[in-house]
Amino acid sequence: MSSNCQMVWDRCLHIIKKNVPPQSYQTWFEPIRPMGLENSVLTIAVPNKLYYEWLEENFVQVLRTSIHQVLGEDGRLRYCILGNGSETTPFALSGNGDERASTGMPNFLDIEKIRDPRIIPGIRRDPVNSNLNPRYTLANFIEGDCNRLARNAGIAVAKKPGGTSFNPLFIFGAVGLGKTHLAQAIGNEIAQQYPEKRVLYTSTEEFSNQLIQGIKRNDVNTFVNFYATLDVFILDDIQFLSGKQKIQDIFFFLFNQLHQSGRQIILTSDRAPRDLEGIQDRLISRFKWGLSADLQAPDLETRMAILSVKFEDAGIQVSREVLEYICYNIKENIRDLEGVMVNLLAQNTFMKRQIDLHSAKAAIRNFIQSPQRGITIEAIQRLVAEHFQIPVEHLSQKTRKRNIVVPRQVAIYLCKEMTKHSLKAIGKAFGGRDHTTVLYSHQTVRDMMDTDANFRATMELLEKKIRMSLLG
Ligand code: ADP
Ligand code: MG
Repeated sequence: MSSNCQMVWDRCLHIIKKNVPPQSYQTWFEPIRPMGLENSVLTIAVPNKLYYEWLEENFVQVLRTSIHQVLGEDGRLRYCILGNGSETTPFALSGNGDERASTGMPNFLDIEKIRDPRIIPGIRRDPVNSNLNPRYTLANFIEGDCNRLARNAGIAVAKKPGGTSFNPLFIFGAVGLGKTHLAQAIGNEIAQQYPEKRVLYTSTEEFSNQLIQGIKRNDVNTFVNFYATLDVFILDDIQFLSGKQKIQDIFFFLFNQLHQSGRQIILTSDRAPRDLEGIQDRLISRFKWGLSADLQAPDLETRMAILSVKFEDAGIQVSREVLEYICYNIKENIRDLEGVMVNLLAQNTFMKRQIDLHSAKAAIRNFIQSPQRGITIEAIQRLVAEHFQIPVEHLSQKTRKRNIVVPRQVAIYLCKEMTKHSLKAIGKAFGGRDHTTVLYSHQTVRDMMDTDANFRATMELLEKKIRMSLLG
């Protein structure tokens, strides 16, 4: 770096300092380092892409003026962003070493590093880093009865962001049902269809943290001004605004700004607007302006479709039987479905275990601690006896008649699989048999299931009946 460029930059800073509030000066100008001077073009280094966007957005005039005053009318400014592995000197921030704290930068500024984008202020405005995960697309968001309205509203919004009556689009539903996926998928679609649009996804937590930092630094405007430049603002899990009055005030202001100028707002929440607690009424009434669409737990068919796509994406073939078994057992939460799948994939890769019914069962057992909460030995005995049309007491008798032995082994197997009772307790409930008998029965049933498809079907039917019995 020539001392000349340092001198030029110092003179610019001198002018800038007189024209911007001290806080902004410290936040946005002190961290900048001059990198070079060539033909009246001063190169300055900033830590990341959004940093120069900020400068562009908020300080382009004062920058231009200072450059012109110091370098003449031909003077230009060029940014370079210092990334990892950059040959240029690493960027050192003055202050306490915590970059975010010392600059007040939001987290989403951690964007991919570009070495020398050659951006000239006022000429090119790059789109904002959207913070979107490309793995979430509309194409891989499987449609079912459970999400039809939300998904189709999302498609409509993606086609015409800000141009439908679905503003805000309020997506709500329980955990693991696809809110984040859908919201991000809409964002990704817009970013792809309209590259010039400024799309930003952020979690409510991150959003709140940034604003809190801004409030502390008495510099909220900088943040609000930035958010107000967005074309599409996706705020995830807004139930976390609950109780945060100041953040809600700022968000209210921002919401109005964006809405009035026809920008698209997409919100997600774990509950419907009317059920939100600790959120100002004026916000709740705005949430209802557009469309509220809920995500329900998917039915069996949709769960199967989702899981088979996920296995396909992972390049693994599994039998319909395994898919059915997993989807039959995991109902409430798509994230758990994925969890089981990941568990199976891990077994498959690391332990070279085949993905079959046994490994699927094991994976499910690992995954849900008490899948069959509420199922009792008595209920199993009753249903098994009913199914085989024998009196329930016979299951506890010491008879070797085949028409009793099989139902008894079946019932023992189901008790071991579906309850948390010990082998001893199960043995006791079947006429005081010991734990080896329980294990033997269990193994016998398992073997029969492996070799006899009809028998397996019977077992599945029984399991289904037992689970259904819990529903009343
Ligand atoms: P939420 O934000 O509601 O807690 P997520 O969006 O994180 O839920 O979804 C949990 C997981 O389920 C994600 O991996 C997501 O890809 C998957 N998922 C949810 N709904 C669908 C769907 N309809 N099609 C495909 N995958 C889905
Ligand atoms: Mg989520």
